[in-house]
Amino acid sequence: MLSVADGQARILARISGLAPPELIPLGQALGRVAADDIRAPMDVPPTDNSAVDGYAIASGDIPATGRRALDVIAELPAGAVFSGPLMPGQALRIMTGAPMPSGADTVYPQEVVTREGSRVLVGPIEHGANVRARGEDIAAGAVVVAAGTVLRPQEMGVVASLGQAQLFVRQRPRVGILSTGDEVAEPGSERKPGQIYDSNRFALRGLAEAAGAEITDFGVAPDLVEELRTRLLAAAATADVVLTSGGVSVGDYDFVKAVLQEAGDIDFWQVAMQPGRPIAVGRIGSTHFFGLPGNPVACMLTFHLFVRPALWKLGGRRELFAPHFPASAVEPMKKKVGRREFKRGVLSCTGERWEVRTTGPQGSGILTSMTQANCFILLEEERGDVAAGETVWVEPFNLF
Ligand code: AMP
Ligand code: MG
Repeated sequence: MLSVADGQARILARISGLAPPELIPLGQALGRVAADDIRAPMDVPPTDNSAVDGYAIASGDIPATGRRALDVIAELPAGAVFSGPLMPGQALRIMTGAPMPSGADTVYPQEVVTREGSRVLVGPIEHGANVRARGEDIAAGAVVVAAGTVLRPQEMGVVASLGQAQLFVRQRPRVGILSTGDEVAEPGSERKPGQIYDSNRFALRGLAEAAGAEITDFGVAPDLVEELRTRLLAAAATADVVLTSGGVSVGDYDFVKAVLQEAGDIDFWQVAMQPGRPIAVGRIGSTHFFGLPGNPVACMLTFHLFVRPALWKLGGRRELFAPHFPASAVEPMKKKVGRREFKRGVLSCTGERWEVRTTGPQGSGILTSMTQANCFILLEEERGDVAAGETVWVEPFNLF
């Protein structure tokens, strides 16, 4: 039996290629992966500017005590530039974001001055108050987004602040998804006696899309050698990664194994984990192949542990694993030493501590345990039964 960590390391070691870069409009960049370091060609903000609506002055002009009257010589809206320098005894009416005029270093908020006709009465002020310095957000030359970063709304905003309208991102890995088994019926079609509806293909599609992939659906292949081979080869011909579910355990009708062995270079792994032990991993030609367990929870979990890091690496991401956090178990949990177990958990914060409970029955066919959960509870190999109050690791779900 292979440990989860060894399995992950072996899979990542097989993935050497990187999806090529493509140039896209910034407006379509959400969730994509930056292909290059993005470097600032300019300072942001480009000039010193006012942080408030008020009056720009030279602080050397202002006495440390008492009040002083200044002449308001002009009004400067945001987007305009004041050409002349400010002279002693003068103030410039200035709006938020307008560039500081030469000769001024400080701005009075309009609320703290008294305006009398063309003059303002002002008191003492700290040098430099209410001025945003040129380059205080981004200095020219700085890397604002590193290659391999997933572009969130804030990265999109930062790239736009540099005046850049397009950027190079990694192409999405192409994923082909296929379900197997005579017992699996297509949702929307009639279910024959003895059949169940296909849930895996839809859960896998969601998982793969959330991991940044582009999906092609290859439907359900019946347990017929010829049919399975045809579909697998068709999927492998167009995808970077092919996912199947079902058919990799030792049942009499598990043809997937036989077909795979003949179609590609595939290993069958027993992973020391619960749920979801048997998985098939390998290649069909240059396409990466993952044969996931048929049980729906095991299918989602094995995707999460083994396929997602692979897709993230292919997709050029720097971080390949999500972080884990400690939480206090509010109930006892059964755990076998020697394998890594994943319970579906409900994480909440009560008072000052993070607590987690399981969703209830943990069978690997109970898919609603995934809909009720907001995290996996990760119980390490060496660990035995968990008593209430012990600290356990949790991995919050973000997109599933
Ligand atoms: P298998 O790995 O083919 O032996 O399947 C294990 C269990 O998962 C069986 O109960 C199957 O009916 C179930 N299963 C297989 N494929 C799917 C699927 N696409 N959707 C839901 N359940 C499935
Ligand atoms: Mg089957």
